[in-house]
Amino acid sequence: MNFKQITKNSKKLLSSYNLSFMNNFFIFIILCFFQTSPIFGSDDLKEDSLIPIDFKIEKIYESEFSTIYTVRDLKGHLSPLGIESAVHSLVEIKKNGIFVIDPGPHPRYAKKILSSVQKVHGKKLPNVKWVFNSTGKPENVLGNSAFDWMQPVYMSSRVTFEVMRSKCEQCRKDLFSVVPEKGLMDEKIVYPNYIVEDHQILHPQLRDWKTYTFSCAKNTGDTALWNKKAGILYAGRMVHSGNLPSLLHANTYEWIKSLKTLENLSPKYVVGSGNIGSSSLFSKSDIQITKNYLSDLLLLVKNDFNAGGNGSDADKRLGLPKFKNLLGYSDRHGLNVQHVWREFEIAQFGDEVKCSEDSLKGATFEALDSNKMNKRLSNKSDYNASEIAKNSFVFTGFIDDFTKENLGHISNYGFIIGEQCVAIIDTGGSKNTGLRLLRKIRKTTTKPICYVINTHAHPDHIGGNQVFRNLNPKPEFISHYKFEAALSSRFQTFNKRLYELMGLKNVVILGPVSKEVKKDLEIDLGGRKLFLKAWKTSHTDNDLTVFDDYNRVLWTGDLLFVDHIPVLDGNLSSWIKTTRELTKSRNAGSNGLQVKFIVPGHGKFQKIDSEKLQEQNEYLVNLYNLTKQALKEGKTISDAVESVSHEIKEGWDLPELFNKRNVTSAYAELEWE
Ligand SMILES: [Zn+2]
Repeated sequence: MNFKQITKNSKKLLSSYNLSFMNNFFIFIILCFFQTSPIFGSDDLKEDSLIPIDFKIEKIYESEFSTIYTVRDLKGHLSPLGIESAVHSLVEIKKNGIFVIDPGPHPRYAKKILSSVQKVHGKKLPNVKWVFNSTGKPENVLGNSAFDWMQPVYMSSRVTFEVMRSKCEQCRKDLFSVVPEKGLMDEKIVYPNYIVEDHQILHPQLRDWKTYTFSCAKNTGDTALWNKKAGILYAGRMVHSGNLPSLLHANTYEWIKSLKTLENLSPKYVVGSGNIGSSSLFSKSDIQITKNYLSDLLLLVKNDFNAGGNGSDADKRLGLPKFKNLLGYSDRHGLNVQHVWREFEIAQFGDEVKCSEDSLKGATFEALDSNKMNKRLSNKSDYNASEIAKNSFVFTGFIDDFTKENLGHISNYGFIIGEQCVAIIDTGGSKNTGLRLLRKIRKTTTKPICYVINTHAHPDHIGGNQVFRNLNPKPEFISHYKFEAALSSRFQTFNKRLYELMGLKNVVILGPVSKEVKKDLEIDLGGRKLFLKAWKTSHTDNDLTVFDDYNRVLWTGDLLFVDHIPVLDGNLSSWIKTTRELTKSRNAGSNGLQVKFIVPGHGKFQKIDSEKLQEQNEYLVNLYNLTKQALKEGKTISDAVESVSHEIKEGWDLPELFNKRNVTSAYAELEWE
């Protein structure tokens, strides 16, 4: 297969995605595959194999002090990334320097912008003194380094800056695998060094430009620039012309609001995201088309949602034929419907959605020391997640049974973010907890969810699974190899009980299990390895632990209870052994690393040497010895339950729910020993 063929194939493959979709885990796999092909090694590329660049340069403003040109890609240089991925740049030539907005995907492209503008301008150009990045996408920003020798000011919004800091290394690899520009991987990534705020003069020397940052609408931190004097609005990816916007990583309502703001500026020219080679300039009407599509979509989904429509096939039912002539409609409209549907679900069932510009903080990695970790140990039970360790979040449920008030927020569940994607560990006890989890993930990272790990088949740990079943891309569901059998024999009983306690129907769903762990399994989230271990029957017959190698945190599921009375639903003798093994701390991390911290199934996060971890062992050993004794004395099961349960309940929460049941199980087990 020669280079052209590969490009053509990858174009076919990727044309349905814009670059934000590159975060998509599966595409990442595909890209990795292409990347391993030797044809893509940068050394093998000859000058003539470089993708040609050709621009249409158009002067749209001229005054005594400034000339402004739009730069539009005619050849579809970035077409492998998707039909609409033309970067539309803008160049302003002032007497004392040049201002460039979005210098494109790599230095050759950025240099070509300058040489093309010079041809049209006809005079020698001054140095580039200012560069602006309107969004954190690699195809807009990796050209920055072309101007570095002139030491310009690089400007962006804070969120764009954060996105670049945390993603540019990886995005560059992704971009390179599709647009294998020679030398791109060796170029320095140049980050903004001047942060702009909303509604400000862009820069003391660029007083004609005013900023409009839209970090709430787009979590890539998109910023529009408005030059009132020239009537020019640089709208980047906020405004689309002739193609359908992608809502991935966007907040639909906020985006519509932003477009209204831009519309009110009444610009003469709009520079936005358009089709490759589009010959006409954008205008105010393009803002309207983008806004109309988003508004119609929002209304359509809202009506269906409120009428009780089914979310899982909404993308197939809810068409907007009025917009079907826009490029990308068949690829993206369905995904957009799903996205908006989920926004409604979250608004309805999740917590209040706050737009926060600092939601991306913590996106970069740094090692944690124990002192920092200790500070996080004081996390309390409420409805918020705590970042217990770097990029590791836990919702600590109440110690309680299911109620209509807590809606299953009664166990610990959370997620871990790697450089590539996110793994969820348990989902809480209802759709409500699942949505809370999803909302927190979406607020924290744009990375896809690649795994949902279930520590065992109890409803307080898996009730939120349904939320993740229809995600696109679909995560893999991982559990112990006996999980499915355990669940299928009991899920109807679970659901009956959950309906009585919470008033919610069909909370627990069967499947989908895409990966079973028989002994152990290592998964990699990108710079973040998780070691999964399947245990012998202990709390249940399908207990799975997750060891987060990076932070040395062991997620035990219900193999460990803190404060909440232990619940026996497996095998007592074997659970005693397992508890000792877990707290011995070296054995549980399947890679042999020492465990330092523990996230139990119930109760608060603990250090490995915490006394709390000894208490479960004492309870189980007492339960074992006293039940054994009762059997020896020939006590009936009901006598044994009365006497034993009375002796061991001290010091635990919820003894009334589980203590007697534990003795019953122990009696049944030990009777045969
Ligand atoms: Zn359990």
